[in-house]
Amino acid sequence: RNYRSRTECRGDIQRLNASFLAIYESLIPPEEEKEKQKQLMALLDKHVTKEWPEARLFLYGSCANSFGFRKSDIDVCLAMGDADIDKAQILLKLADILKSDNLENVQALTRARVPIVKLMDPTTGISCDICVNNLLAVINTKLLRDYSKIDVRLRQLAFIIKHWAKSRGVNETYQGTLSSYAYVLMCIHFLQMRTPSILPCLQEMETTYKINVDNVECCYFDKVEKLEGFGSRNSESIAQLVWAFFNYWAHSHDYANDVISIRTGSLVSKRAKDWTRRIGNDRHLICIEDPFEVSHDLGRVVDKRSIRVLREEFERAAEIMQYDPNPCVKLFEPY
Ligand code: ATP
Ligand code: MG
Repeated sequence: RNYRSRTECRGDIQRLNASFLAIYESLIPPEEEKEKQKQLMALLDKHVTKEWPEARLFLYGSCANSFGFRKSDIDVCLAMGDADIDKAQILLKLADILKSDNLENVQALTRARVPIVKLMDPTTGISCDICVNNLLAVINTKLLRDYSKIDVRLRQLAFIIKHWAKSRGVNETYQGTLSSYAYVLMCIHFLQMRTPSILPCLQEMETTYKINVDNVECCYFDKVEKLEGFGSRNSESIAQLVWAFFNYWAHSHDYANDVISIRTGSLVSKRAKDWTRRIGNDRHLICIEDPFEVSHDLGRVVDKRSIRVLREEFERAAEIMQYDPNPCVKLFEPY
């Protein structure tokens, strides 16, 4: 589509696979970390069920979606059943209860965009944020985890892209760049769009999992163990995929017209979603549709300044992947 779009990858691309895989391996959390998380969850669960016998705790975010690095904090959702509760009051109560145990820095942040209780557990060294009734995040966490089980190249690619975004300072939603969640959606979409495709579109398949959360119908095919080998007709390596990912976002993506959508496994037009104009603070300069909250654009944090920063970073990464003799150093250089 774009005249600058490259179709021809450098000849020595396969030489780079080992370095990308080594970076991926170095970021994977060790098994002990899972054990420590379970230990902290058990402690929190004990306190919560004592006060609210009907309530349940769920892990969400990077500690549960399989895209978390080692030494990550954990995100926990307290599900109260009743939707009509005063979240601030619950969080203040929860903070009180947890302060009485051996936990450090317990704070209720009731005015935050997503109100939470923060704390640090000195026994395991894990920090944690607890929110109330954010069940859509629990469900999209499951969707991401299910996708990651289909083809290992998703987890490899997403780790490399998240590591790049963190190194280059473009994983800061408060500065107008994208969340880790948005980057993972970009990776899933990218792998759905390869020919032959490396990932299927689970939401277009037979429904095997269905739940209604906050009036959003979430349904998709979650028997992913049946999809083993789905991507095997495509033999692209991690280095080729990293190259193609950056090349796509630097030179091929049509920012003016297209929305990426893992829900449909294809591109959707901005016009069809009525995302062509700025409404309030939503400028839709890069459009990433949430798989369940379809009116929600994960790119809405991006503004006139930060879209330039982002696109320049994609272009820089694409140049490095095409020409640099040693991309694994330059790509992740601190900004
Ligand atoms: P990191 O490793 O950077 O901590 P993370 O996977 O925890 O990454 P975040 O972007 O911090 O990613 O988001 C945590 C979780 O919150 C996501 O997995 C997702 O379930 C949910 N989430 C985050 N942002 C949104 C959003 N804008 N809309 C819906 N859910 C979101
Ligand atoms: Mg997180």
